[in-house]
Amino acid sequence: MTLGADVSNLSGLARPPAAQGLSIVVPAYNEAAGLARLHDRIVALAATLKQRYGLQCEVIYVDDGSRDDTLSIARALPATALDVQVVSLSRNFGKEAALMAGLDHARLGAVLFMDGDGQHSPDIVEKLVSHWIDDGYDVVFTAKAHRDNESILRRVAVHSFYALINWGARQKIPEDAGDFRLLSPRAVAALKQLPERNRFFKGLASWIGFRQIRVDYEPEARAHGVTTFNISRLLGLSIEGLTSFSVAPLRLATLVGLLLAFGAFLFGLSILWETVMSGESVPGYPSLVVGLMTLGGVQLIMIGVLGEYVGKILSELKARPIYFVAEHSVKNTGDGVASATPDSIVPRNAAE
Ligand code: UDP
Ligand code: MG
Repeated sequence: MTLGADVSNLSGLARPPAAQGLSIVVPAYNEAAGLARLHDRIVALAATLKQRYGLQCEVIYVDDGSRDDTLSIARALPATALDVQVVSLSRNFGKEAALMAGLDHARLGAVLFMDGDGQHSPDIVEKLVSHWIDDGYDVVFTAKAHRDNESILRRVAVHSFYALINWGARQKIPEDAGDFRLLSPRAVAALKQLPERNRFFKGLASWIGFRQIRVDYEPEARAHGVTTFNISRLLGLSIEGLTSFSVAPLRLATLVGLLLAFGAFLFGLSILWETVMSGESVPGYPSLVVGLMTLGGVQLIMIGVLGEYVGKILSELKARPIYFVAEHSVKNTGDGVASATPDSIVPRNAAE
């Protein structure tokens, strides 16, 4: 039995054959207002890619339990220059699950993740594809060119998050990298082999290795509505990323414990010294209270950190499917007719 996974037979280092295809995965949660416009841009993109690289394309809209008309609008989109798949999840599972659903339904080898709100401009996709086909890169990820429009507080928070998650890590997760990313067929195969249920795509896509390249870009303004990632969701995603990717918080706990113990030792020595020198015992009430509160606080925080990891173990152990598919339709270019799959529940593993 081998413990590693060999995905090398899927498009080697050499230039991939021209008949390769690209599946564009678009997670959509309440994106009804901008979906048709985005689809037009994707159709134009597919035509360009076909002409330039002979690349066959398909787009997979993953409706992540939207409460607006996203699903009906997606179903009506024409398969003009590329096949259109619509995967509707049984409820809102979150973006990472939606991306996984798209990945599982992709049929053409390479995969491109692109947000459904128009922020990820189809205009630079040609450049991403060129890095894959012409230069042989496996993971082409995009990163915000700058963060000038964000508050200092947010920038510091983001920086500390990446400092912590990358602390001691062999494969660093690039700061500022977003989910707008192209994966070669073998990178897709590698990503699909990772068994964990708690997924943090930015981290996983970097962790798999292969040849990676960064492309700077300027995210467009959201076509409509507001971001679904508010502070609490971002915090959740950060804790998710941290606990599934590194044991840095646990290591930090050990370090803080050591530092405190060392501090206490020095403090004890100084008290002893003072008592010996002056012959008086040090009045201790305030220092005692401060010491108690510090220790109590630190211990509670660390129990919380441990709890996060235990919770993660529990959710991995339960091994529930990452999502359920309520409806799935495929429209191929040419036939123009949607063929719906009758099975209403397709868990992640059964979908493969
Ligand atoms: N999204 C999703 N499920 C969710 C939340 C968001 O599929 O529960 C999709 C959303 O439709 C969009 C993408 O994830 O295409 C990014 O979401 P958003 O624009 O709110 O986040 P931001 O761009 O601010 O990171
Ligand atoms: Mg967005």
